[in-house]
Amino acid sequence: MAHDKKFITVLGATGSIGVSTLDVASRHPERYGVFALTAHRQVDKLFEQCMTHRPAYAVLDRTEDAQRLQSRLDSAGCCTEVLAGPGSLAAVASAPEVDMVMAAIVGAAGLVPALAAARSGKRILLANKEALVMSGALFMQEVASNGATLLPIDSEHNAIFQALPAGFRQKIDGTEVTRILLTASGGPFRCKPVEELAAVTPEMACAHPNWVMGRKISVDSATMMNKGLEVIEAHWLFSAPAERIEVVIHPESVIHSMVAYVDGSVLAQLGNPDMRTPIAHAMAYPERVDAGVRPLDLFAIGQLNFERPDLERFPCLALAYRALEVGATAPAVLNAANEVAVGSFLEGGLRFDRISGVIAATLDAMEMQPADSLDSVLEADRRARLVAANFVRQFLQ
Ligand code: NAD
Ligand code: MG
Repeated sequence: MAHDKKFITVLGATGSIGVSTLDVASRHPERYGVFALTAHRQVDKLFEQCMTHRPAYAVLDRTEDAQRLQSRLDSAGCCTEVLAGPGSLAAVASAPEVDMVMAAIVGAAGLVPALAAARSGKRILLANKEALVMSGALFMQEVASNGATLLPIDSEHNAIFQALPAGFRQKIDGTEVTRILLTASGGPFRCKPVEELAAVTPEMACAHPNWVMGRKISVDSATMMNKGLEVIEAHWLFSAPAERIEVVIHPESVIHSMVAYVDGSVLAQLGNPDMRTPIAHAMAYPERVDAGVRPLDLFAIGQLNFERPDLERFPCLALAYRALEVGATAPAVLNAANEVAVGSFLEGGLRFDRISGVIAATLDAMEMQPADSLDSVLEADRRARLVAANFVRQFLQ
């Protein structure tokens, strides 16, 4: 079947999700073309990607990096135009030539360009869960009122999307769907004695048993804040109240999540832990394309296990439920404090077992505001970073 070629902008192209996205796109050159690639500061990697994928635009954060990349591309005979700065991220996410935008920048920095894609009615492939955590109500409203399509890339949410009835738009209130079962691997420290968590290094925290990911999300997986952020993400994506979202530890990461129905059915989506599956699903939706993923071998896996999460071991999960319950800017504050605490941990500052303390103290210290505009969300993010940085300093002493 002949297809109209779809053009994609990959925000965060040099990251783990960005690289997997380009891998899927390059398996189907007749279906997908690359309009723009963006990165924060990785000039060399973005240069290689531009040479391979020949986008119309590339974006870097700093002007001097953009100039350096432009002159290297010019000398190599590549016609890509290089832009700089956050405004350019929004521009390549909303340009009329673009059909879909992979939102794969890590953290709050991805919010404004992802919103720009929503406002211009694109198909948004959302990996950047932090954007939705910060501004869920606003984001969903922009998607709905501008005719955008939001498809989840997070493997759990993509699994839930696949296990829900096609076109399902209702609230998850028990009439048809009773529960979302969000699976979690439990990360590298699921069985580690709690008293040993103080001595965890960034390298230990980033060595995930099943998934290879960027450093920030790897630490989030180790604290289980990642699952907490995903509970909030599921709340917004699927109109699900917190009490209908249950976290299930499933160490094999083969079931990517499940949906429970009122008649007793539980539908699951299974696969090898490889992000190219949800990426290919969302890129081709509602069709299916080869993602380059190894077929699932259930005989080699043998058994699937399930456990209840231990909230004493993983206090970050409880903090996320608390922020969701408080609502308003509390999830944005939670996210900002987590980014600051994880950043300090990764730089060798804050102890691993104090990450949750910084977040809890920041939530306690701040007054929440309605999260009804981008300005109020960004202001909460900015203030929470200052407050959290202060607590990090106290916790270092
Ligand atoms: P990563 O660290 O590997 O890549 C991040 C990308 O964002 C890079 O291209 C980087 O250059 C860019 N970036 C970072 N800071 C930026 C800034 N301030 N301005 C502009 N660009 C910036 O991260 P990742 O693992 O690919 O994760 C990306 C997002 O996808 C995160 O939100 C993460 O939670 C989500 N996600 C990732 C996975 C996974 O398997 N890696 C799974 C589910 C969800
Ligand atoms: Mg996930």
